[in-house]
Amino acid sequence: MTRLPQKTEIEAILQNIKTPTGEDIVSAGMVSSFVIREGKIGFALEIPKAANLDATQAESLRMQAETNIKNTFGTEVLVALTGHISPIRIGAREPKNVPPPPTPKPLAGVKRIIAVASGKGGVGKSTVAANLAVAFAQQGLRVGLVDADIYGPSLAKMLGLKEKPEIVDNQMIPPMRHGVKLMSMGLLLDENTPTVWRGPMVSKALTQLFRGAAWGELDILVIDMPPGTGDIHLSIAQNFEVNGVVIVSTPQEVALLDVKKAIGMFEKLHIPILGMIENMSYFETSGTRHYPFGKEGAQNLSKKLGLPFLGQLPIDAAISQGGDSGEPFALKNGIMQQIAAKIV
Ligand code: ADP
Repeated sequence: MTRLPQKTEIEAILQNIKTPTGEDIVSAGMVSSFVIREGKIGFALEIPKAANLDATQAESLRMQAETNIKNTFGTEVLVALTGHISPIRIGAREPKNVPPPPTPKPLAGVKRIIAVASGKGGVGKSTVAANLAVAFAQQGLRVGLVDADIYGPSLAKMLGLKEKPEIVDNQMIPPMRHGVKLMSMGLLLDENTPTVWRGPMVSKALTQLFRGAAWGELDILVIDMPPGTGDIHLSIAQNFEVNGVVIVSTPQEVALLDVKKAIGMFEKLHIPILGMIENMSYFETSGTRHYPFGKEGAQNLSKKLGLPFLGQLPIDAAISQGGDSGEPFALKNGIMQQIAAKIV
């Protein structure tokens, strides 16, 4: 197998690629997020606002980067274009009409869309999304689930699904388990694909997950959002009519700060907040509850912000094991049912 180059060797090649002002793309700070493994090289080409490049110029830099690296090292290369890219200029003139952001188009057959979001990663957002979807299905609803957490798609594992969607009439048929139909990057990509996909590429891939799937009739489509705030949230809000968002947080102060930021973003995007779920609230030994992360932090915050509080989930090995084994704990435990009933 070809020896994989070091980051510095790759950068040395990229220094030969110049922007229209004559600066090379490495010195211009455009190259980041390297992934070098398993015979593949991936990185992001991030265009700063000050560079003022249009889509053709940015794509030309991306192509040069990909070609030069491939030709030098003989490896597979994926360069993801992201950052600030202006609409294509015609000659020296700016186009008069910059297209407005897309207006959301309905998803055929889907009655309601709700998103599950969090201020930061690792708070159990995907766990809640998977269990919530299962709990909805147990209540007799027809449920779909989209894993929009492109950087860490984990829902296929949590639901115990492995098979790639079948393609019929150019549409993907979402595989179903525990009454939930799932679309996830995790089902489409093989495990070694670098996840340096960003910005425009990701938003295209996401649209495929939603609109490239034959969902049939659904009462509810649950979206597992990426953590935090960013382009993907914006793209989903612009392209799909999201009826509401459920926010997941742990009780700590730091997590709560991020939650406030996320809530602010959804308010700006005019997506109603259905309420908050506090995860990892406590653990129980011999009937006594312990609160290692402080008591009722998320509950207090939701009160302060005037948001409905939907419930607490304990720290429980059954919850993580349920996720690892593909048998979500909602199948056996009533807490998630109660939260789902409140949302319904
Ligand atoms: P996020 O989507 O916010 O990044 P995950 O849902 O992937 O978080 O959860 C992170 C890890 O924490 C997983 O291993 C999951 O099984 C575990 N976990 C989540 N909630 C709980 C809980 N209430 N009790 C025990 N483990 C949990």
